[in-house]
Amino acid sequence: TERTLSIIKPDATKRNLTGKINAKFEDAGLRIVAQKRIQLTQDQAGQFYAVHKERPFFGELTEFMASGPVVVQVLEGEGAIAKNREVMGATNPADAAPGTIRAEFAESVGENSVHGSDAPETAKEEISFFFSGLELV
Ligand code: ATP
Ligand code: MG
Repeated sequence: TERTLSIIKPDATKRNLTGKINAKFEDAGLRIVAQKRIQLTQDQAGQFYAVHKERPFFGELTEFMASGPVVVQVLEGEGAIAKNREVMGATNPADAAPGTIRAEFAESVGENSVHGSDAPETAKEEISFFFSGLELV
């Protein structure tokens, strides 16, 4: 089984959607094996999203990610990385398939409710960015 890093973003925690989003993961067969609510500084958000630092939306993205609490979590299951991205839907909610998290909950391409790792290497890096070995069983 595979593991992936998921983040429930500030727009969703603000609207008290953590449980509804977690139900989507569990209904899709993903198991939440670690989870905590934290608030990032803009600097920490920038470290996490370093791959996007040359993009025009980098400042907006890091400011948003630091604007309120996030729930960081590790999801586990067969093909968890791809399955999670399927449940999330397209980055822009206008393009997200019906029934996906972003179609139902996202407010805009920036404030799009969830993050999910996009490949095995990034999943490993992103999990260790937030969780120590002791927090994962
Ligand atoms: P994530 O990495 O958060 O799972 P993603 O892989 O679907 O989302 P990326 O292209 O990696 O999308 O972009 C990372 C995040 O940057 C997006 O989730 C979104 O919050 C923000 N973002 C992407 N494109 C834009 C844009 N054009 N304007 C504002 N914010 C954007
Ligand atoms: Mg991405």
